[in-house]
Amino acid sequence: MRLNIEKFKFDFKRKLMNTFAEEIEDAPKLHIYMALGGLVRDYITEAWVNSNNYYTENNIKQVYYFSMEFLIGRLLKSNLLNIGIYSLCEEGLKELGINISELEELENDAGLGNGGLGRLAACFLDSMASLGIPGHGCGIRYNHGLFEQKIINGYQVEVPDNWLKEGNVWEIRKENKSVEVRFGGNIRISQINGRLSFIHENYDAVRAVPYDTPVIGYDNNSVNTLRLWSAEPIDTEFDLFSFSKGEYSKASSYKASVESISQVLYPDDSYIEGRLLRLKQQYFFVSAGLQSIVRRFKKTGHSIKELNDFAAIHINDTHPAVAVPELMRILIDEEKLSWDEAWKITTSTIAYTNHTILAEALEKWPVDMFKKLLPRVFMIIEEINKRFCEEVLDRYHGDWNKINEMAIIKDNQIRMAYLAIVGSHSVNGVAKLHTEILKKQELSSFYNYSPYKFNNKTNGITHRRWLLQANPELANLITETIGDSWIKSPNNLSSLLPYKDDSAFRDKVAKVKLNNKIEISNDIYKKYGIKVDPYSIFDVQVKRLHAYKRQILNVFNILDLYNRLKQNPNLDIVPRTFFFAAKASPSYHLAKQTIKLINSIAFMVNNDAQLNNKIKVVFLENYRVSLAERIIPASDVSEQISTATKEASGTGNMKFMMNGAVTIATLDGANIEIKDAVGDENIVIFGLKDYEVLDYYKHGGYSSREIFNNDRRINCIINQIMNGSLGVAGSEFNMLYDNLIYNNDEYFVLKDFDSYVKAQNQIDSYYKQKDKWQQMCIANIAKSGIFSSDNTIREYSKEIWNTQEIIL
Ligand SMILES: *Cc1c(COP(=O)(O)O)cnc(C)c1O
Repeated sequence: MRLNIEKFKFDFKRKLMNTFAEEIEDAPKLHIYMALGGLVRDYITEAWVNSNNYYTENNIKQVYYFSMEFLIGRLLKSNLLNIGIYSLCEEGLKELGINISELEELENDAGLGNGGLGRLAACFLDSMASLGIPGHGCGIRYNHGLFEQKIINGYQVEVPDNWLKEGNVWEIRKENKSVEVRFGGNIRISQINGRLSFIHENYDAVRAVPYDTPVIGYDNNSVNTLRLWSAEPIDTEFDLFSFSKGEYSKASSYKASVESISQVLYPDDSYIEGRLLRLKQQYFFVSAGLQSIVRRFKKTGHSIKELNDFAAIHINDTHPAVAVPELMRILIDEEKLSWDEAWKITTSTIAYTNHTILAEALEKWPVDMFKKLLPRVFMIIEEINKRFCEEVLDRYHGDWNKINEMAIIKDNQIRMAYLAIVGSHSVNGVAKLHTEILKKQELSSFYNYSPYKFNNKTNGITHRRWLLQANPELANLITETIGDSWIKSPNNLSSLLPYKDDSAFRDKVAKVKLNNKIEISNDIYKKYGIKVDPYSIFDVQVKRLHAYKRQILNVFNILDLYNRLKQNPNLDIVPRTFFFAAKASPSYHLAKQTIKLINSIAFMVNNDAQLNNKIKVVFLENYRVSLAERIIPASDVSEQISTATKEASGTGNMKFMMNGAVTIATLDGANIEIKDAVGDENIVIFGLKDYEVLDYYKHGGYSSREIFNNDRRINCIINQIMNGSLGVAGSEFNMLYDNLIYNNDEYFVLKDFDSYVKAQNQIDSYYKQKDKWQQMCIANIAKSGIFSSDNTIREYSKEIWNTQEIIL
């Protein structure tokens, strides 16, 4: 946008005055931040309205990305960068005596997601807006996002995330766009004008109020919308009425039960939460979102039968899968279409992304619970199931085994993935390997039944947040070297590749990395009192704590290295600092034991003078987007060590690569595609392959106890953990022990240990070859452009949504 420093300073001072009646000198920092945010919103309002008008007036097909989670993080810096005024504001504020980075720190992360799935949704919003694709987010405005993690005495303690306590400058409440969502009650069937009608009676109504946040494209005048729904009581008079009759508690419990729907995000990652409230949340935002889409569409005057030409609805995992029967309900009960017409529209509008094959993450709802909460929607699911089963029987000549395999309702449970597949025209996995496993194993019956629906869309990350914003020094160096075209065309990062043979450039890249390491080391000293050596290798594993991600494997290598150093303090290794950051779901005891274990080891290692500072262990508390933005640009080694087949894609892996870290990885998820992009010489691979893991699961033949008995290193490590050597009673880690030894180590930690240790030694030896290491880093940066979510979104747009890139 066109702006100069003087105009900005004037606007800013006026905004501060108009909002808080304050001058800069007397304004608290928080007000300064809010005034700046408010000003940014003012600057983009016109473009926001224009974008919407343009889409509507030109009948442009729009995407609605339905997701239970949007892990957005902070917006101030990314919004300023996207409208192209970050440097100008930085400068202008400086002249007013204000440090913009201090303001950035005042913004609470919007942590409305658990991990990769929610962060993907946020990256996709950024890419849709930046490519000019009319695409909007639809989700829940949780009053509390993912809990804040505190580490107390080595244990995780959860504190509610009160992210809205100081208000949210980016959102606008749209009272007049509220809709009603209905739960419970019963269905009365009657004949009206010769047509069966389904009348919903005695339901509980909830008001869904949307809050809109602008999603600003990079330098293109496009502004899309993230619409998040908040649950409120339907009429406020009810409270007063009841109060007057002395039913205050009834009224307030009604209010509380309604508000509970958008109160808090469930803190589980890759794990189903089967509670009624979770189902209420799902239906709440899906119904509200669909109603608002249909209402908006009808205003254009087009026939509802053309909905699929103007709207693409994408469901992020099965959490919004109730969109299939809910859209059917709206089309049949409210728009009076026939079943067949409604089905055609529904299936050609909805597309589904599968995110996991972990059995514990595949959603199933008990029929009884579902039917009671959503009686009409359940009837529709039954009908979808009946028609689908008839079709399957027909196709397979009455083979009832196929019904067992494929029925949407089985054993009194609704299998949401099957509902999503049957009700949509596209089913995609999130990395090549993951999609192949879906086709060949987990969903093979459905793949054989309708192969044309299945496709792969490897995940991506927005390079604007994860490079331009998070690593400004590297971004500047890149732009100095190859120009700035990479910001709009991230594949152009590949022009950096030849510079890996330019020693001056290598030194500059190394200098940027060192600066980033120094910066975070200073923060760490201030916050934790731990002295970290910025010249040590920064070896980083940051992601949700989960058995399949194998933080334990990392821990085993650290303990082995510790034992080797105790034996031989002169061991010739490059000093290394192992960083962890991870939240555990509050009810996931094994994960919590792992956090305690890491912190116990950190305490032991960091206070052992004999080690000569050769290793340090740091657990950074409260992992979230804004922390990821600091630690990833300071990383040398990216730990991507999940058991092969378990990590559907991973996106953390891509962020590290883009910031010039070298990956140590199993051949899992998108690690495989990263290896193919950078070449074998620029990554360190270890561990069991997907087919080996699958073979063990199928045919057995693995005994962790055998390894425990025969590998002296492992024997020693496990004994250390269990006999109190870490200064903590072994009983604290009993679940870890049981899983590794009694339950035969489901994730092959012991099996992959030897291979992992060798890979870590390889890393040490590469790092000692300074030039080679720096060449590896540069190759990673240069090849990372293909993992920009711009590329991913282009593929969704062309191959699934059939939408256009609009130039405004
Ligand atoms: C990218 C990201 C994730 C996903 O990381 P993975 O390593 O792919 O599991 C989780 N949390 C946050 C805050 C992220 O930024």
